[in-house]
Amino acid sequence: MCGIVGYIGDKEAVYPLLEGLKKLEYRGYDSAGIAVFDEEKNHISLVKRQGKIRVLEDEVLKDPPRGKLGIAHTRWATHGKPSDVNAHPHRAGRIVLVHNGIIENFRELREELQASGRSFLSETDTEVLA
Ligand code: GLU
Repeated sequence: MCGIVGYIGDKEAVYPLLEGLKKLEYRGYDSAGIAVFDEEKNHISLVKRQGKIRVLEDEVLKDPPRGKLGIAHTRWATHGKPSDVNAHPHRAGRIVLVHNGIIENFRELREELQASGRSFLSETDTEVLA
């Protein structure tokens, strides 16, 4: 089962987000990801990895993103295989989001958006929301 963590506060968000993900591990997942917003630089860092949270954590801690606001997700794939690209968060411009569950009409929404010129990176239903 998937899980969502959010943080806003005085600490660097990356650490409570990673701790939160570890607390959700028991629910089961196939991939995990994290997004942190650096208000000073007006920049969003996004890291996603298939597999264990340890794999994501190793990658994230090579160069920990700065910022006191962030979201994180453990994914249990329903639409699109487990992969780095299909892991959440998903991004479209300034919008970055995570989602649990299924968007039943995602195919219609995706086709409409493609017809209006949008392109997609992932195979997920979630990306249409972004
Ligand atoms: N349907 C979404 C996906 O396949 C979310 C799955 C989940 O709840 O983790 O990415």
